[in-house]
Amino acid sequence: MGTTLKTTCLCGTTSITCAPPASALPLLPNFCHCTSCRHGTGGLAFPAAPWPEALPDVSALTKYAFSVNVDTYFCPTCGTLIFFNDKKKEICHVAIGALSEGSWEFKDHICVEDTKDGGCSNWLTSVGSKTLKRWRKIDDVEWVDKGQKEYARKEKDELRVHCLCKGVDFRITQPTAESGKSSTHYLQ
Ligand SMILES: [Zn+2]
Ligand SMILES: [Zn+2]
Repeated sequence: MGTTLKTTCLCGTTSITCAPPASALPLLPNFCHCTSCRHGTGGLAFPAAPWPEALPDVSALTKYAFSVNVDTYFCPTCGTLIFFNDKKKEICHVAIGALSEGSWEFKDHICVEDTKDGGCSNWLTSVGSKTLKRWRKIDDVEWVDKGQKEYARKEKDELRVHCLCKGVDFRITQPTAESGKSSTHYLQ
């Protein structure tokens, strides 16, 4: 297992390292399914773990006020999300997908309730031989799978798509008979 943690963004212009005590590794990330993490990252869940030191020097990164208490930090060139800093709890989380060195063992799923139906925790039930627990919110009550209901599609159903700040917010409607007549190659 590595003893150094290193983040590397997609374009490689930002990199942050730390050498935590061996007892701090492996990191124990969870998958956060909260609405903010899903819409703020575009992923079905956000895998992150506490950075084993205080917020490092993030002057090369761009800050975004994710919520009243949380700032996120990302590469100003390629947009890779690196840190998620909870100022109130004084805990900085690192995005596991941004780590290029380090060791980690996935711990559990949190805030599963926000997905309403369990989201991708229904499929990602274990990593290796370890079963991942699912929590309704954060380490409080276990999420109980109610079973996904058979979904009856209705003609007027729309799929809403929006980013965290809702600067991008649109709806995808159902295809109609007219949609099939399009001559663009995207729909053929
Ligand atoms: Zn970058
Ligand atoms: Zn979250």
